[in-house]
Amino acid sequence: MAKMKVKKGDLVQMLAGKDRGKQGRVIESRPRERRVIVENLNTVKRHMRPRPLRDSSRMGGTQMTPGGVIEKAAAVPVSNVMLVCPTCNRPTRVGMTTKEVKGREVHVRQCKRADCLQEIDK
Ligand SMILES: [Zn+2]
Repeated sequence: MAKMKVKKGDLVQMLAGKDRGKQGRVIESRPRERRVIVENLNTVKRHMRPRPLRDSSRMGGTQMTPGGVIEKAAAVPVSNVMLVCPTCNRPTRVGMTTKEVKGREVHVRQCKRADCLQEIDK
């Protein structure tokens, strides 16, 4: 499975859509779809119609489910968001670098801004 450079818990900025320029926290990543769900961003309104509950007539009288509008965050393509670097607080592309931890080489994500280049995962 292809790994995404944006993962759960990251702060990202939207690059497209009605929430362009806004920032939010990734609450779910779907590498299979190459999409992420960002808290409170790219929300879609679901209109819920009031409808009778099934089997409610048995209990005397028909009960209705409440109708209304529910706002839900929809998945966005990962290409439509950019990671916000926790060090310089700017949206950035993500680079990969390696470092040695206890004698082993591990891959770490890195801010690609030339004047920053800090690790993203601390
Ligand atoms: Zn940075």
